[in-house]
Amino acid sequence: MKALLLSDIHSNVVALEAVMAHASIFGTFDEVWVAGDTVGYGPNPNECIDILREQSAIVVAGNHDLAAIGNIDAHEFNSYAATAIEWTREVLTPASSKYLAGMSTTVAYQDFTIVHGSPRDPVWEYLMEFEAVEANLEHFDTAHCVVGHSHLPLVFTLVEGQEPRVSLPTNADEIQLEGRTFVNPGSVGQPRDGNNMASYAIVDTETDSVMFHRVKYDIHETQRRMKEHDLPQVLIDRLEMGR
Ligand code: ZN
Repeated sequence: MKALLLSDIHSNVVALEAVMAHASIFGTFDEVWVAGDTVGYGPNPNECIDILREQSAIVVAGNHDLAAIGNIDAHEFNSYAATAIEWTREVLTPASSKYLAGMSTTVAYQDFTIVHGSPRDPVWEYLMEFEAVEANLEHFDTAHCVVGHSHLPLVFTLVEGQEPRVSLPTNADEIQLEGRTFVNPGSVGQPRDGNNMASYAIVDTETDSVMFHRVKYDIHETQRRMKEHDLPQVLIDRLEMGR
């Protein structure tokens, strides 16, 4: 079975459409898994949700998703993120709000636990260091864990008797899943690793491997839509920088 791994789409439907088109070049994927933050920051929250609904995606809630439906106070965010959250609340259709409200923060599915932040703190914790990664091992039962939140594509691998290791995959890198792993597919809609191309991954449960991809999309079109809705300039600019 092949699952398309997406995270941090952040209402960037131009990037999401580019990813879906690119992923179908690599043959079919059977399922779509999303590690949170489908909305926030960007200009097309409803359109992104519509695509995930059509795909019957397995989706968890991230901090921005919860804020967009009022389950987290927007004051917990920096002012740019909060402005985008407030705008998102205004434009969400009832169907989109209902979709967001139906998300849980943790889904265990086959050999994978899917969360936005981490198993012990699915909404807020960033998994970027070994200490936090190791402390999280006892907080989930499956072999592997899919995370998002940091917007950085990476894999932490922990095999008993070996030093833990981290991989920072670039385009077309394939990584074997062994022992217990944390897989972050990177961000579709707002990459932050210095590469402005949309990031995603495909996990193959037959070969126990995950392949990472980067896709060019029309950044200027997303920026134009953000401007049209008076979203903060800082958020518009960072798409181009990939930071
Ligand atoms: Zn995010």
